[in-house]
Amino acid sequence: MAWWDDAAEAAGSAIGWVGDGVEAVVDIATETAEEVTETVTEVAIDVLDGARDGAAAVSPALGGVANVVLGVVKGGVQATQETFAIVFDTVRNAGSLVNAVLHFDLAGIIADLGNIAINVGQAVVLVVRVGTGAYFGAAVSDYFARDDSLGVIRALVIDEFGTPEGESILRRLGWGTTHFGFPIVASASIMVADSNSFPFVELHDDDDHTLDLYAMAGLLSLNGFQIARERTRVVRVDDDGNDMWYLPIHRYAIRSFLDSGGTNMRIRAYAMEPAATGKAMRTARKKFKKLCIDIGWDTPFNFATFQAFNAQPCTNLREFDFFPGRTFEAGRWFATNTPREGRLEEDGSPLCIGVFGFADDKHGLVTGRRIKRGLDGCGPDDASDACITTIDRSRKDFMSLDSDGDGVDDLKDDRTGCGCTWRDTYPPYFSRIVLAHELGHYFGLAHAGHDGVHNIMFSKAENETFGKGSWRLWLHGDPNFVEEDVEHAWRFIVKQMPHVLRAL
Ligand SMILES: [Zn+2]
Repeated sequence: MAWWDDAAEAAGSAIGWVGDGVEAVVDIATETAEEVTETVTEVAIDVLDGARDGAAAVSPALGGVANVVLGVVKGGVQATQETFAIVFDTVRNAGSLVNAVLHFDLAGIIADLGNIAINVGQAVVLVVRVGTGAYFGAAVSDYFARDDSLGVIRALVIDEFGTPEGESILRRLGWGTTHFGFPIVASASIMVADSNSFPFVELHDDDDHTLDLYAMAGLLSLNGFQIARERTRVVRVDDDGNDMWYLPIHRYAIRSFLDSGGTNMRIRAYAMEPAATGKAMRTARKKFKKLCIDIGWDTPFNFATFQAFNAQPCTNLREFDFFPGRTFEAGRWFATNTPREGRLEEDGSPLCIGVFGFADDKHGLVTGRRIKRGLDGCGPDDASDACITTIDRSRKDFMSLDSDGDGVDDLKDDRTGCGCTWRDTYPPYFSRIVLAHELGHYFGLAHAGHDGVHNIMFSKAENETFGKGSWRLWLHGDPNFVEEDVEHAWRFIVKQMPHVLRAL
């Protein structure tokens, strides 16, 4: 062991706990403040949205007036909330920076400075958007777009189900009331690796440095210099199997754990901090309102730090490095390891799993969806039935069951589950969108036709960075679903999930 390792550990044990304390206090204070402003804003916006839908249900003319008047008010509410959000996030990043400094964690310092630079950029954009009226323009135009979207959805539902049944479904979705939306109960699970069943020491010590336990615990790592690391969390576990969340884990603890071959204590690693999970869930819920889909989570995301999110065991490297681009294997994994087996009745309750990472550096993955637009002769805006995303539920949907081509099916038609996985990519400004993006795929959306980073369904690998509608970046300030997404998602819902609508 080199002398600087010992020096770093001595310093870490003496000063590190001060940094942990500072960060913990700042995190709790900013999370509480943010929770209050988010909740107040959400209630205010629900009231405004309800009044708008109610006015539009009375007459189109009254709806038009409501779109303008209530839209301007909503724009003001959103600008106020976002101002607070940027302030709180900057304070939180400053607390994290202090902690990184006290841990001599240079990679962490650079990452936190990067986050603070993003906050400054957000503040500049906010001032420009308020000064040029973008907030008010966005809210008013979103309200007019909602009228169009409701018309499109109505036509698709009546077309598919006929008038009597279609009207009945629309009524159950809230047509003509103060709220229209498709209620979905989604579930989020976070991968957890436990030293009782996961080979931490082996993977930390192998030649590839498959994992870096110091970095995973948010500590200075001398094994590598990783700025863009996920917000994973490592805790010690007591004899009863409970997390010792009150006991910050330090370099010396990790080192002695590794030196003992993983026998002197029990630890657990979480794929992401609760705050990161909560932010992703809240963002998905907010963004899906545009699609007229109400994402309700089975675990609340409020005060995320104090929530016990569902846990998904991670017991081997295959799960730790989640299935590189091989969606059949990922589908099989869902069917064998989670309650999702590709059954019809599961379609309305997506399961999203927060993973440690992807071997091919993906940010997220949807399984059980065969996306066709932009592929196999389907144009990006093709609305024909042949180009609607389909659901893969078992092996035969992925491949031929006749593996040797002798005309006899020799493979078993194993079930495959549907769901989403995502990881906490750096920076958090980007990663909060990933879960909404994967759920977008779950509801049939493709990357094709989404040139421009103003789209939630944008993919760096497949789309141009700027495309038609890039002015929306000024209007909305961050990525959103667009009007075409409403039509494509609902075309998918009526064609592939009619049983979910009928069961409402
Ligand atoms: Zn994607």
